[in-house]
Amino acid sequence: MESKTNISFRKETLTKLLNEVILHENEIMEALYFDFKKPAFESVLTETSYVISELKDTIKNLNKWAKPRRVFPSLLNFPSKDYIFKEPYGKILIISPWNYPFQLALCPLISAFAAGNQVVLKPSELTPKTSEIIEKIISKVFIKKDVNVIEGGIEVSQQLLSERWDYIFFTGSVSVGKIVAKAAAENLTPVTLELGGKNPCVIDETANLKLAAKRIVWGKFMNAGQTCIAPDYILVQKNMKSHFVDYLKEEITKAYGENPSISPDFARIINTKNCQRLISLIDSEKVIFGGQTDIKNCYIAPTLIEETSIETEVMKDEIFGPILPILTYEKEIEIDAIISKYEKPLAFYIFSENRIFSKHMIQKYSFGGGCVNDTMVHFSNKRLPFGGVGHSGIGAYHGILSFDTFSHKKSILIKSNLLDLPFRYAPYKDKLATIKKILNWL
Ligand code: NAD
Repeated sequence: MESKTNISFRKETLTKLLNEVILHENEIMEALYFDFKKPAFESVLTETSYVISELKDTIKNLNKWAKPRRVFPSLLNFPSKDYIFKEPYGKILIISPWNYPFQLALCPLISAFAAGNQVVLKPSELTPKTSEIIEKIISKVFIKKDVNVIEGGIEVSQQLLSERWDYIFFTGSVSVGKIVAKAAAENLTPVTLELGGKNPCVIDETANLKLAAKRIVWGKFMNAGQTCIAPDYILVQKNMKSHFVDYLKEEITKAYGENPSISPDFARIINTKNCQRLISLIDSEKVIFGGQTDIKNCYIAPTLIEETSIETEVMKDEIFGPILPILTYEKEIEIDAIISKYEKPLAFYIFSENRIFSKHMIQKYSFGGGCVNDTMVHFSNKRLPFGGVGHSGIGAYHGILSFDTFSHKKSILIKSNLLDLPFRYAPYKDKLATIKKILNWL
């Protein structure tokens, strides 16, 4: 589909969107607080400022990203000029989740529009205030034909999926990802699926335990653990466990105080259904820290669990909440026995001062992305592709990759008429040996 919009119109519109987001930043933060008490600091760090930076980056680079790219030609076609043209797919459906409801809706929307597509966004029904402000901002900036927000739950989502799209971008759970993939297959619609998984965090005997604990507590308990790339469980070298657990306790208390339920920096679980699901994962006999819950207020304290088996409820699926199981290993074979039981995760974290061990882990396991000696921060570099592999997702985005995700790459070879080497044309008689030599040489 040819783009109905030119680059300067897209840039002007994205600039309007940037101004509206800045203008409504406080309202967005209030909506996020209303929906699940997301702390203001986290709202700025992971939602509004992220979107603002994505907008600035896109506006700045749009001309460059959209330009046809000339590539080195093949000598076989001499003389020619070869290009990659980027064309918009056409109509894009974006379905987004509730856990980072502003950022995960807006970022793909920005790139899809920037690439010249028409967009329909279905935000999450579980964060109604945030969806409302998204709708308000979008309808101020765009005409519905270019970008439209359709609010609603599962039925609305399924109705949209039954229509024909040129691309579907879905962020959410693995089970719904499969529903989306099936619906997309009906029309061979390309998809990006940004899903989840059980993200391991391996800590070896050389790790800086105190710093590891601090960075893990930050990554695990931000957004009350409801982050697709949060560490899901710990695998710590047996001899290190006791010290490491002490540091974890210390860091949790430093971050959220003696009673995290009154900390302004600790979010709530999205709803009572999810709170109930999480409470059922806590085996009180294994709790070594936290464990307090208040279902009426959707509160679960940062909780550490001593785990010895992967056959338990908490070790079955992605936890997606502030519960951190700690398992130990003595030999590498035990790490492998655990990690290889699960589907490929979205994220993987290694805490070690031993570069050989870290490199070995990176090369041995397949996962979306991750960090050595930190958690989650790989997300923040726009030059790193963000996405899963296997059950944790299909495709990746961020930075120029987001623009490319929503663009079909069309190959064009412009042949010169000045020269027409006769060699490739039939009759081929007597040319076989020569063509072999030429192809071999090329
Ligand atoms: P979800 O899959 O329940 O919902 C996501 C979206 O799909 C929502 O808009 C919802 O309305 C819609 N939906 C729900 N059920 C549907 C159905 N049966 N048919 C059609 N549409 C349906 O996910 P969630 O609970 O909102 O988010 C949590 C999950 O998302 C976690 O698994 C997390 O790991 C994952 N996630 C992944 C990323 C990523 O970037 N990879 C980011 C955030 C969250």
